[in-house]
Amino acid sequence: MIVCKFGGTSVANAEQIKKVANIVRANPERKIVAVSAPGKRFGDDIKVTDLLIELADAALNNGDVSGKLQIVVDRFKEITEELGIDDSICDVIAKDLQERVALDKTNEFLFIDNIKASGEDNNAKLIAEYFNAIGLRAKYVSPKNKLILNDYPERTIALPEAYENLKDLGKGDEVIVFPGFFGYTREGILRTFDRGGSDITGSILAAAVKADLYENFTDVDCVFSANPKVVNNPVGISEITYREMRELSYSGFTVFHDEALMPVYKLGIPVTVKNTNNPSAPGTKIVPTRALTGRPVTGISADSGFSILYVSKYLMNREIGFGRKLLQIIEEENISYEHTPSGLDDISVVIRSKQLTDEAEERIVKRVKEELHADDVYFRHGLSLIVIVGEGMRNNTGLAARATSAISRTGANIEMINQGSSEVSLVFGVLQQTENQILRALYDEFFAPITVG
Ligand code: ASP
Repeated sequence: MIVCKFGGTSVANAEQIKKVANIVRANPERKIVAVSAPGKRFGDDIKVTDLLIELADAALNNGDVSGKLQIVVDRFKEITEELGIDDSICDVIAKDLQERVALDKTNEFLFIDNIKASGEDNNAKLIAEYFNAIGLRAKYVSPKNKLILNDYPERTIALPEAYENLKDLGKGDEVIVFPGFFGYTREGILRTFDRGGSDITGSILAAAVKADLYENFTDVDCVFSANPKVVNNPVGISEITYREMRELSYSGFTVFHDEALMPVYKLGIPVTVKNTNNPSAPGTKIVPTRALTGRPVTGISADSGFSILYVSKYLMNREIGFGRKLLQIIEEENISYEHTPSGLDDISVVIRSKQLTDEAEERIVKRVKEELHADDVYFRHGLSLIVIVGEGMRNNTGLAARATSAISRTGANIEMINQGSSEVSLVFGVLQQTENQILRALYDEFFAPITVG
């Protein structure tokens, strides 16, 4: 059985949904289809999820609720009209939205989740209806009482019972259309995953039914070895390991949500990233292991929005528990960290800046000074991480030297270097304004002049 997930641009309008139907029809093994909310139809279009966030915001702040609600309904109306299906589904969608807007607003986050989730939920209903209208037998299935999630405010994850509840999905004759992005707690409270979270839903479904393949349909032919918006015509990746993909999507490759591999990874279910607009292209295959080809580097990613906490203390290395106490202070601020490169008398903690507030920073600096008696403690902001990823790097000497000299040729300074113990990635912390220049230099170093993946 194949589980497929279609992202926002793949279901953005009637024309795209017709392509989805053709893809599902082309292979009877495609029994479960997870869908996103309608995404962008053109460059500066607004995704339905963003329209819904605006609607939730209006409902919370006495804004123009009916106007915003109508904009969402109109998006669905346009799709139904162009698909030529019964437009009574638009009344169902309008009623559903009105009910959601009237829900309890005590917990704003859960209220927003409820509104946001309607994009996928209603789109799944609409797509199931279209499939049936064209003779492709299909059934909408709600995540309710099935995709069980942990409680708010923990980071949203599926509980083990979700897999048990979903294990028989797709065993009937019809194609299951399942909304991505959300589930329910044991108490029946709706929660969403992070943005882009329909990838996670698809992966959970694939793991639950022990699918042979999880196909993730998007709007590019494959995963590229570097951001095509920055690097001219980067090499496409035909095969990549879970670990490589995880490293790359963590640090900037947005084609696949970085948490989405977890459920399938555990079972070794292969994943392909494919293009709805060009389904015959082979796409990128994500696999547990792969034969190492001549090129040691598989991809280079870059992501901005990082801060570094620098801490130095003379004879730090002699002090038992220094690292633990430092990380505990950060934990007590409810902040997660990305890397902790260290020297003999200093340690840096790399943090995503969006987690920090001025107050939290002040508290951290004060506590590290007072409780750990550090000599010097300060934050730096405006950093980017550039990550060079490749299973082949382990067996390759001189790679770090090549990377640092390529960076030095740009004249940019390296603020931090970190190599994970698995040696699958090499991370550089650099100033945000030098990110693109460095990415291009590293790409030229490791990929040019080879042009076939
Ligand atoms: N619609 C949601 C978003 O825009 C989830 C998804 O498409 O995966 O983030």
